[in-house]
Amino acid sequence: MTNSPIHEFAGHKSEEKRSDGLGGAATVFAAPGEVDPGFETQWFDSHCHFDFAAFDADREALWQSAQQAGCCGLLIPGISRQQGQALAGFCAGKPWFYAQGLHPYFLTQHRQADIDWLDQALTDPGVVAVGEVGLDRILATTDEILEQQWHWFRLQVELAEAHRLPLILHIRGMHDEAASWLRRRRFTHGGMVHAFSGSGQQAAKWIELGFALGIGGALTHPRAHKLRRTVAALPHSSILLETDSPDMTPVFWGAERNDPRTVPLIAAIVARLQGRLLAEVSTESISVASLLFSRLSINCVKRP
Ligand SMILES: [Zn+2]
Repeated sequence: MTNSPIHEFAGHKSEEKRSDGLGGAATVFAAPGEVDPGFETQWFDSHCHFDFAAFDADREALWQSAQQAGCCGLLIPGISRQQGQALAGFCAGKPWFYAQGLHPYFLTQHRQADIDWLDQALTDPGVVAVGEVGLDRILATTDEILEQQWHWFRLQVELAEAHRLPLILHIRGMHDEAASWLRRRRFTHGGMVHAFSGSGQQAAKWIELGFALGIGGALTHPRAHKLRRTVAALPHSSILLETDSPDMTPVFWGAERNDPRTVPLIAAIVARLQGRLLAEVSTESISVASLLFSRLSINCVKRP
């Protein structure tokens, strides 16, 4: 793997001068020869929009390649009624699992009738969670938009409670508000805070509520010192690996489009930050996913 992206990343990071409290970010990638991502370990991409048009041209080839890199399964979030209706068919026959939800990004598309549809869709035993749903301060340019986000969020949390399903949360700039609200409601089904990049304190609040944190490409940004410190201290049982493909591309990947093959590379960074073996991160992150999403049946077995 001499020309693998992680080696390029190691080179990139070694130019960084700033210390991040971990002996400098370069330390994280100091011995890339020690990591051999993907060849003895299995990976589950716990948040991947593999159904997006960005993959239409080469999805099958990419999936073959991801499997070669050790990827044994994907969790594809629902974002709207229209997209969600295609998910069961899309995932059939593959180790691809799906959730159903109405994403705050597509606020103008959601209709009240979509909640009735979602209520029905969640009875499908193939659905592992409600999501992705949430609150996004950056998208909420007015109070009215924020109130609309809350409207759909509240309704979908009620559905998660009614169906006893975990949540897949999309939260930007609203961690404290969302976590406090769910705590006051005594939400007990847990879930995943996808693409987590908050503080250690915010992480602790989510963990207390029974949520795991989705760790992905944000970890690779040269300036993400705080996030790397947070991840270094996270309990093993609270980490899910994700790509958010085709978005959140790790800085070292060299292509604009992200894909599930970057999971083992993110895992290598997590392993290094936490001083753990890559194999431990593999096993633990898969067991976190199957515990959290109890309807998930991941068949990720170690290859000989
Ligand atoms: Zn997403």
